[in-house]
Amino acid sequence: MTETLTYADLLAAVAAPEGAGAEIKDPATGELIGHAPQSTTADLDAAVERARTAQRDWAKLPHAERSAALNRAADAIEASAEALAELLSREQGKPVKNGPNAAFEVGGCVAWTRATAAFEIEPEVLVDDESGRAELHWAPIGVVGGIGPWNWPMMISVWQIAPALRMGNTVVLKPSEYTPLSVLALAHVMNQALPEGVLQVLAGDGELGRAFTAHGGIDKITFTGSTATGKAIMKGAADDLKRITLELGGNDAGIVLDDADPKAIAEGLFWGAFINTGQTCAALKRLYVSDALYDAVCEELVAVARAMPMGNGLEEQNVLGPLQNKAQYDIVARLVQAAKDGGARVLLGGDPDGSAPGYFYPTTLVADIDNDNPLVAEEQFGPALPIVRYTDLEQAIAWANGLEVGLGASVWSPDVERAKEVALRLEAGSVWINKHGAIDPRVPFGGVKQSGMGREFGELGLKEMAEAKSISV
Ligand code: NAD
Repeated sequence: MTETLTYADLLAAVAAPEGAGAEIKDPATGELIGHAPQSTTADLDAAVERARTAQRDWAKLPHAERSAALNRAADAIEASAEALAELLSREQGKPVKNGPNAAFEVGGCVAWTRATAAFEIEPEVLVDDESGRAELHWAPIGVVGGIGPWNWPMMISVWQIAPALRMGNTVVLKPSEYTPLSVLALAHVMNQALPEGVLQVLAGDGELGRAFTAHGGIDKITFTGSTATGKAIMKGAADDLKRITLELGGNDAGIVLDDADPKAIAEGLFWGAFINTGQTCAALKRLYVSDALYDAVCEELVAVARAMPMGNGLEEQNVLGPLQNKAQYDIVARLVQAAKDGGARVLLGGDPDGSAPGYFYPTTLVADIDNDNPLVAEEQFGPALPIVRYTDLEQAIAWANGLEVGLGASVWSPDVERAKEVALRLEAGSVWINKHGAIDPRVPFGGVKQSGMGREFGELGLKEMAEAKSISV
């Protein structure tokens, strides 16, 4: 039975008793939210055993029944959406209601679960002639181990859970040690609608993540996080040739062509870069603007950015929150300092108030910065956008393609055909025109180069959670 749970219900269900587990603090205030249980490798062994047992019956169900169970899980998320959004806001920092924040993320969990349930996955007939008949079926892989980050902890968990379950696998997840309560609560809510053992969450740090990768009872790892950890997982998975999907870091470029309208694109550029206070894998992280409209784009962006309130996520007016943790705050502060040291011009922000509680770094726009400055070349994963001037479009494309990562990219111009020509030349898994980072459960998403391996979403994403199996007669 699906119940509407309160914030207190969720904490009571998932948090460790006081004094046990890891302290989880609100990044906006430093206040204690609760304690997260810390699972051991023995807990992992037991969870994998349960998942293997549950998988046998789960895999036997027809797609329609697994889809119905996913839709019931989506109903359960909807019923407790308010409490889930509050917990997410407190733990991750993102504002609870306004903008593309906590309520939006919980809504995304519902939408992705339903969209994943809705795909038709039928065996494909490959050959049917006088030589015989060959069909392609999509068989479950077994137990999928999901490892996730702290920026969109609930939604990214659903991206791992929903397609894996839909294809007949069972799931054991390890959320980030920074945001475990959100994911434990999400699974608690979804589990009202799922059979026992099909979805389990174990909280722990990177050591537990390593144990997932090494575990002989886990058949596939689906990982979202940094490129460095992705490489460690790929090495670890080699021992027993586990299947892997890696969604890793990026440093997305946007190119504004010389015919764009600065006023018309400013808000889209802003949210492309600053969604979730910049802590988004496929956020706009370096902006290349034609010299012809450079000053106008800078001016319009400053005007939009100035009007976006940042603060405690539980206060209604805010649309931007703090960085989630001190380590990320320090990265952003170091990179903005590097920009200043390199002679770049700070248009807005760049002056954090060190005495305020919480990891707030102000919305920062940096102009006249060299392409090789660390704020451009490294992933800031925070609210600081470097704006690089170009005079030659070929140069801008070369700069955009000049890094080892390639998650997303964008091109901005009213001439969509011209923008598409540029888009085709950008080395990224997703290229958006006149928007950035707008994901859709029907459209495959993932990185090229060192931004990852494999795709999530769409039919392609479902098939990543299955083994292709041909049957020939
Ligand atoms: P991270 O790599 O530090 O941690 C991610 C997860 O991996 C955590 O759960 C952590 O405990 C675990 N982990 C750490 N070491 C491990 C190991 N050796 N083996 C197994 N697991 C281990 O990443 P993060 O700081 O949480 O996330 C930020 C990064 O994630 C950014 O680079 C961002 O761009 C990227 N990201 C990518 C996507 C995408 O879809 N491509 C989405 C969100 C975030």
